Amino acid sequence: MIHRVLIAAELKNLLEPAQLADLDITWLAADQPTPRGDWVAIVPLLSRWVGGTQLKNLPNLRIVANCAVGYNNVDLVAAEMRKVFVTNTPGVLTEATADLTWALILATTRRLLEGVELVRSGQWTGWHPEQLLGLELCGRILGLLGAGRIGQAVGRRAVPFGLRLVYTARTPKPEFERETGATRVDTSQLLAESDIVSLHVPSSPETKGIINSETLARMRRGAILINTSRGDLVREEALAVALERGQLGAAGLDVYADEPAIHPRLLAAPRTVLLPHIGSATEETRRKMAAIAIANVQAVLSGKPPLTPVYKSV
Ligand code: NAP
Repeated sequence: MIHRVLIAAELKNLLEPAQLADLDITWLAADQPTPRGDWVAIVPLLSRWVGGTQLKNLPNLRIVANCAVGYNNVDLVAAEMRKVFVTNTPGVLTEATADLTWALILATTRRLLEGVELVRSGQWTGWHPEQLLGLELCGRILGLLGAGRIGQAVGRRAVPFGLRLVYTARTPKPEFERETGATRVDTSQLLAESDIVSLHVPSSPETKGIINSETLARMRRGAILINTSRGDLVREEALAVALERGQLGAAGLDVYADEPAIHPRLLAAPRTVLLPHIGSATEETRRKMAAIAIANVQAVLSGKPPLTPVYKSV
């Protein structure tokens, strides 16, 4: 049986013909609105909002197979009410995103961009004992706000650097604690103690804006903020002000509240390393993400349970 499905056009090159067997595909470019019609599955990118209106316009839909581990672009309540499965792509992007988080930690603590700019400017006058002094990692405290798959992978990488670890999570992580010596603390303690705070909670009504002027003020003077989770965890203007005042040492960001727009004050703020949402951007990971999304579609359309559901049943 052939099924009509909508798939993000940007995934075309990452998919093999065998994965697409029995699918009658309408490729949907990111700049096209979600159409109205009888499609039974949609594979959106995280930039596409799939809410009540879109679900209503797709009355035969059986699955939203998000091509991301985060699913804050899908109205879960509306989907569940319509008995539509929602799936994500957990696990396969953990290591790539943890690597990129470390790229930001090293770039901010050791002032890599300022170094690159100095060399490129032709103004570098040679080695100087006080030039571009950064933050030494060994003995410092890394705070993981959220210690699920990615937070823990970031934490494991911290051990050989000699960092001490504190973390928050809704549930304790005894194995992670044994492996890394990490201590579970509450958010206030984490903010107050950490030299580097790295965000790994998902975006949800409870976590939106968790980094704001009040929580920034509770961080150590000169501390560094890293965000490879979701942009709306951070109030961007408040972050810009903290950087302007030197209250924060630096910020390394991969994600923004209103992508691809970035708050102009944050864009102009000092000591930032700003990346264009490339946490999971390795060839291997992007292929695996696309493969899981399609495998979820194939499973549901052949009457089986999805492989990686966000909620268990519909
Ligand atoms: P995960 O395994 O589900 O981990 C999430 C962590 O946050 C867990 O420790 C969880 O606690 C905690 N948490 C969840 N809801 C919370 C709440 N309301 N308050 C406090 N803590 C909460 O997710 P993951 O695979 O590590 O991914 C984390 C996020 O990274 C994703 O949601 C996604 O947005 C983002 N991401 C970004 C990129 C990128 O390209 N930059 C790539 C991949 C993922 P428990 O462990 O107790 O449940």
